[in-house]
Amino acid sequence: MKPLPPLILALLVTGCTETPSTDALESTHTSPNLDPVNVVEPVLFVAAGLNTNGSLVRNYQRGLQYAMDYFGRYGPYYVYLLGPDSEQSVRHIYHQRALTRANADARLGSLEEQTQKFLNQPNIVNEIRSVLSGMAEGGLTWTQDPPILYEDVTTNAHGREKDPVENTWGALHEYHHVFQIAHCDTKQERTSEKNINSWISEGMATYSSAKFMGNLGLSDFEDYMLQLRTSGANIGRPSINEFLRESSDWQLNDEGYWDTGEFAQVYYMLGAWATAYLIHVLNIEEEIVLRDWYYDIPRMGKSAAFRKHMGVSLNEFYRKFDAFIRQTDSVVMQIFDGQTEDN
Ligand SMILES: [Zn+2]
Repeated sequence: MKPLPPLILALLVTGCTETPSTDALESTHTSPNLDPVNVVEPVLFVAAGLNTNGSLVRNYQRGLQYAMDYFGRYGPYYVYLLGPDSEQSVRHIYHQRALTRANADARLGSLEEQTQKFLNQPNIVNEIRSVLSGMAEGGLTWTQDPPILYEDVTTNAHGREKDPVENTWGALHEYHHVFQIAHCDTKQERTSEKNINSWISEGMATYSSAKFMGNLGLSDFEDYMLQLRTSGANIGRPSINEFLRESSDWQLNDEGYWDTGEFAQVYYMLGAWATAYLIHVLNIEEEIVLRDWYYDIPRMGKSAAFRKHMGVSLNEFYRKFDAFIRQTDSVVMQIFDGQTEDN
């Protein structure tokens, strides 16, 4: 949930740059939103010129609705599918976006003052510029102070429109992050007990979105997992096999790979395989690995929740997985034998 280097970002299926919003309004910190009940439906804002035949929204919703059925409802969740065709439409949507972020606390300024403040933020000014020039940017953002909300912003949704499979895939991936963030304190370091490591966030979302795409009949899950090893699939280079040949001392929980630039994909690819290991080698139910164990993180912390649900400590898991993943493709692929695409 940290911006990827541009090279890798361009290769990512999800195009996600998940970052906490830096513009959250000042307020008392509250607990993450843990209550999936009574959360309104996600709201999709679509700029003029897009979705003329309905397929953009339909293919996004295909992923989003599947993910919400699986993970439950968290939000409010606002989806922005934007493009350069109508500046008036784009500015109208950003004005509405500002209103969703306004805090009812009058001490923070009037509605109009808060709206103008948001629209004048340098990152928002730049984002609107990107939309109007047709640049593909954006990703998942969220606020850490009230009003708590999540946003999936696509600055040039014409790309999504032309690629129905990637459109659905991205919607699945980002909603898993919404679920994760709802059970984490993202103000804490990702190594802390109340937040999750990058391999957990990106790896589990990479696994779940690929698995769900397989369930929907839109991709071949097992082939995708193999590709992560051999070619890096749609995540990036080097592939898992290339990376492991060069890195005899890598650690899955080392957050430093973000900073080296070339290894950020480790969290996606090896994290996806670490997720597969939990489900297919340790035989933990998929719903527990992808969803249920998160419920305990706010209360007992990441390490205790992991041990409770997976039956091993995180450190023991890292040791076991390291030995597993260094085996050949044909050996590790055996973990999927007898699996179906249905669940
Ligand atoms: Zn992601």
